[in-house]
Amino acid sequence: MMSKTMQDALNEQMKHEFYSSYLYLSMSAYCDRANLPGLARWMRAQAREETTHAMKIFDHVLDRGGKIELKDLAGPPADFASPRDVFDQAHQHEQQVTASINRVYGLAVDERDFASTVFLDWFVREQVEEEKTSGLLAEQFRMVGEDRPGLLMLDRELSQRKSGEVESPSNPT
Ligand code: MG
Repeated sequence: MMSKTMQDALNEQMKHEFYSSYLYLSMSAYCDRANLPGLARWMRAQAREETTHAMKIFDHVLDRGGKIELKDLAGPPADFASPRDVFDQAHQHEQQVTASINRVYGLAVDERDFASTVFLDWFVREQVEEEKTSGLLAEQFRMVGEDRPGLLMLDRELSQRKSGEVESPSNPT
């Protein structure tokens, strides 16, 4: 059985993961409108991955006898200045998610909820990957700037991501 404090923190984190999915879906739609199908595809896969993160938390709360409380989701922005802006914002967003995961982890330690610290280890490792990937892409879009051939090259490259691919550390379970 988990404490009410942990339950609330995990329900809140689940909301952040669902919001991430919402945000990346909006970014995917923007990229599609901007005639960059590779970026749109990459962001759509990213959105799908975020839903799996939320559902991992959903299952953990239920497995520990907690109560699921789904929160209201804010609407993400529908417009972005450029592909570079999209990836800058994605990187900043992942840094915020990392901070949030770290807070929940700290709480689990304080509460001596070791089932949750072990569970959250996966998320800590996942955020290392998320920040690394989003940071690299943000930097590459910065390098390319307004250069159209460079942008098309990145679009081609990101289109290689498989639609169902989960770019995550291996799950120990
Ligand atoms: Mg996530």
